[in-house]
Amino acid sequence: MSRVVFLDRDGTLNTERGFVTRPEQLEVLPGAAAAVQRLHEAGHRLVVVTNQSGIARGLYREADLAAVHEKLHRALGGRILAYLHCPHLPDGGHGYGGACACRKPGAGLLHQARELLQLDFAGGAVVGDSARDLLMARDLPLRTVLVHSGKPAAGERAALLAAGGRVDHEAADLAAAVDWLLQQPG
Ligand SMILES: [Mg+2]
Ligand SMILES: [Zn+2]
Repeated sequence: MSRVVFLDRDGTLNTERGFVTRPEQLEVLPGAAAAVQRLHEAGHRLVVVTNQSGIARGLYREADLAAVHEKLHRALGGRILAYLHCPHLPDGGHGYGGACACRKPGAGLLHQARELLQLDFAGGAVVGDSARDLLMARDLPLRTVLVHSGKPAAGERAALLAAGGRVDHEAADLAAAVDWLLQQPG
């Protein structure tokens, strides 16, 4: 059975630098493309899930985000099945809908992906640099890996545990996360 791996974007696949509004600002992290390729070759199904409140804030439009994701998709060798994002503000409002179910740490994007791609969560994983990435998996049968390639890990780990989340593994970056994931039993 092919397993799903949900990947955070900023700080996991590309440099964490605040809002990325244009493709030129997207800098894919060293080793990320090779790590994605290894997951693909191992039969994993890959989905990017990302909070993009910059859309609700008016910093960029859906079309701008699509252009950023086109660049990322090419850089990752076309191995990502879907890019799902939450365009909303943390607390709703600002004319872009109210509080939503899709913003991480909510699991809405994971459920969207499951329906879209007919996924089974069992044996899958979430990889991200933030507490909210791993909190998505709180009530789901997904392994959780905190990577240290984005936000300072100590603060994220503390926030995660304080919110009742769990971290199954910590890794320097996506390449090291993949080393671990490929050793896990089905
Ligand atoms: Mg991140
Ligand atoms: Zn949302």
